[in-house]
Amino acid sequence: MAGKRDYYEVLGVDKGASDAEIKKAYRKLAKQYHPDMNPGDKAAEAKFKEINEAYEVLSDSQKRARYDQFGHAGTDPNGFGGFGGGFSGGFGDFDFGGFGDIFETFFGGGFGTRTSSTRRGPQKGADLKYSMEITFEEAAFGTEKEVTVSRMEICHTCSGSGTKPGHQPVTCKQCNGTGQVQYKQRTPFGQIVNVRTCDVCHGEGKIIANPCETCGGKGRVRKHTKLQVTIPAGIDNGQTISVRGEGEHGIKGGPSGDLFITLRVKPHPIFKRQGNDVNCEIPITFTQAALGAEIEVPTLDGKDKVVIPEGTQTGTVFKLKGKGIPFLRGSGRGDQHVKVNVEVPRKLNEKQKEVLRQFAELVGDEVHEQRKGFFNKMKDALGM
Ligand SMILES: [Zn+2]
Ligand SMILES: [Zn+2]
Repeated sequence: MAGKRDYYEVLGVDKGASDAEIKKAYRKLAKQYHPDMNPGDKAAEAKFKEINEAYEVLSDSQKRARYDQFGHAGTDPNGFGGFGGGFSGGFGDFDFGGFGDIFETFFGGGFGTRTSSTRRGPQKGADLKYSMEITFEEAAFGTEKEVTVSRMEICHTCSGSGTKPGHQPVTCKQCNGTGQVQYKQRTPFGQIVNVRTCDVCHGEGKIIANPCETCGGKGRVRKHTKLQVTIPAGIDNGQTISVRGEGEHGIKGGPSGDLFITLRVKPHPIFKRQGNDVNCEIPITFTQAALGAEIEVPTLDGKDKVVIPEGTQTGTVFKLKGKGIPFLRGSGRGDQHVKVNVEVPRKLNEKQKEVLRQFAELVGDEVHEQRKGFFNKMKDALGM
């Protein structure tokens, strides 16, 4: 069977021959080699059989496609004749469904899978990735933002078909609309008809003869589109929000991609974020710390009041419950932590200094507990 002639050759037609051409060639040859016309001619009889066999395969679109892909091995009922006798026994258990795998094993891949990717159907549009800067407050409470995206959109002139209105795509002559062209490949097992994507129509099977003037036949055009994007409350620096279906439009009716926006939150001059809590540091005077005071504290909701009790030490933290950042897609808020820093005056006039000296004489070491404790420890440690 390795010596079997190519069916197209038998009928004397091209690989891309139409059904009508095949039929016509068959009729002509069948008449010529019919046993009735050639009584007793064994060669003509063999030729007649060969013609019929070829026509049986090439006139059936399914059988023809299989033959185009796998050669005689794809249509022979005994299976795998194209490989030669040595292999046929071992492959007897395989059906055609697993055939591509065998070819891949022998010919380095690509054979069985090539046809599946030739004709390009609908494709999903690409995802878009953007980044956006927002303020600390916008991140905390959420906001609506306008973003201008540059993306491929369906051409309105041709509704994505790529063809000038009033025209239709024409069938590709190179591949007769199949999107594939066949070529012969010689292998140690015989000749194989291989298939590749048609390079004229790029596997489409059709050619746009009158391209749409707006999109140049691509079916999509690049546009700058303004979109309204909702930034949810509680979003943090570096987090990404996704907007479904606002990426690039799909090809041939495929779905649109998605839009991803990564947020950069500008640092705040006063507030620092820690999870959903807000931290800030407030300077207070040493008299406020010593005598106690009510101080004004900035919060995300405006000014608030914090009572500093008498004798507050520097570094003390006061908590404002529920004044932090709302939980992303949840309810409730974090807290605000206010750390007070006692500021020691740098410049004092003579009168202020005099008052402080009197103050020092008055209190002695009695009110400075930390200091007293420290000196006690030092005495113990150094024996002073
Ligand atoms: Zn168009
Ligand atoms: Zn083509």
